[in-house]
Amino acid sequence: MDATEFRRIDFIDLKTQQKRIRDSLEQRIKKVMDHGAYIMGPEIAELEEKLAHYVGVKHCIVCGSGTDALLMPLMAYGIKPGDAVFTSPFTFIATAEVVALLGATAVFVDIDPRTYNIDPIKLEEEIQKFLKNNSGRKARGIIPVDLFGQTADYDPIEAVAKKYNLFVLQDAAQSFGATYKGRKAGSMGNVAATSFFPAKPLGCYGDGGAIFCNNDEMMQKLRSIRVHGQGSDKYNNVRIGINGRLDTMQAAVLLAKMEIFDEEVHLRNSIAARYTQKLQHSVTTPFVPKDYVSVWAQYSVLVQQRDEMINRLKSRGVPTAVYYPKPLHLQEAFSSLGYQRGDFPVSERIADSIFSVPMHPYLREDVQDYIVKSIAE
Ligand SMILES: *Cc1c(COP(=O)(O)O)cnc(C)c1O
Repeated sequence: MDATEFRRIDFIDLKTQQKRIRDSLEQRIKKVMDHGAYIMGPEIAELEEKLAHYVGVKHCIVCGSGTDALLMPLMAYGIKPGDAVFTSPFTFIATAEVVALLGATAVFVDIDPRTYNIDPIKLEEEIQKFLKNNSGRKARGIIPVDLFGQTADYDPIEAVAKKYNLFVLQDAAQSFGATYKGRKAGSMGNVAATSFFPAKPLGCYGDGGAIFCNNDEMMQKLRSIRVHGQGSDKYNNVRIGINGRLDTMQAAVLLAKMEIFDEEVHLRNSIAARYTQKLQHSVTTPFVPKDYVSVWAQYSVLVQQRDEMINRLKSRGVPTAVYYPKPLHLQEAFSSLGYQRGDFPVSERIADSIFSVPMHPYLREDVQDYIVKSIAE
């Protein structure tokens, strides 16, 4: 089989999914057009209930993006200049950007070389180092990231958080649908954020996100922050908030996609298992610890000569992506934090050799075999 036999290999295929649920999507979107409640229509509460039930938490607050889903809990905690929040440097910019937006300081902690998620042992070391430095800043919380759809190691992270009296905000933007020791992503820590960006495992047709928590007070604050800090009514504002609502149309899309989501998680896992079986002798395949189920937001591998590999795959019509070529501590946007190359050697090494291959629930076996052959040769 060669590349010319495929019209085009999709990195993520949303069209096949849409074909499957087109009727349901059209019905639900039409319903929104008919009732006309484009802002906070009935689909919002319906979706929040479904999502909270799925994750197994008391409250879900849907919002405008995964970035807002990270920002709003930090606002609820009153994060401000002088506060410090610990997180991974090997993630999407939004994770640490929200900390900086509130004038607080992101303190990076290197990752585990096998899972690429924050290393719980280094986390405690960095916290101790931070406390010893006595910078005048206050340690407030931790944002672990569930990279590529696999959760971070929450048992030791939650233990460290408790010991140092820090909150845990789970960045589950890539992991909605994953499980950790039987717990669904979104139920870890004190509060969790996910994203419904179209390319995420559960995506809408625009921007969207959700926040999960069990705490009533947190839920009330988040609902207020979502609508400009509103109090008992719209024109009574009790705190500074944002316009952080999810559109009703997007809630309708997500309700349709929820109908097939569990099946899609299953399909993603079959495809990932097949990749690992066929690629394990040619590249470093993803490591999934015992009692973890990934949702495979990305299937990412390590190679020595990445550019060569990517170019070869490109010439054969196989699309790839690099998440992430530059760790956050080396980004110009964070230059004021004063980090240098060499500060987080694991993140730097992984950033230099990682790339992701096409991954979605509808990846056909013959297409996958062609991708595998192109990599292995
Ligand atoms: C996608 C993503 C976000 C931000 O989500 P948006 O919906 O794009 O705002 C945050 N953190 C991580 C790890 C992500 O992958």
